[in-house]
Amino acid sequence: MKKTCICIICPNGCEIETEVKEDGTLSLTGNTCDKGADYVRQELTAPVRTISTSVHVKGGVLPLASVRLTRPVPKEMIFPVMEQIRKISLTAPVQSGTVILRKVCGLDSDVVATRTVRAVNESQSL
Ligand code: SF4
Repeated sequence: MKKTCICIICPNGCEIETEVKEDGTLSLTGNTCDKGADYVRQELTAPVRTISTSVHVKGGVLPLASVRLTRPVPKEMIFPVMEQIRKISLTAPVQSGTVILRKVCGLDSDVVATRTVRAVNESQSL
């Protein structure tokens, strides 16, 4: 069976043709580096995705704080993980790098803040 994948590892976006041969081996053409081959093998066997989004912050100088996963999660877990992230509401101050939710959905990935949000009263005293 043949399939075409676009590699998303770098901006080159190589179009990679894949074919699973009768003996089960995989042939790849179009990738210009090994990272592309690794990406396609992962996509065909166990695709993963990461999430970068934002969560609500109460009492902050900004209404939202950006967050991301520390590790990619299986593609089929994206919606359950987003459902958990949507339930999060933080109270300022929020420090960038703080783990907001450990092992989301029981997976080996945490949700961490990627933006510091000061509290409103904290910024008034500066
Ligand atoms: S195959 Fe290599 S060069 Fe091409 S998009 Fe993927 S990572 Fe970039």
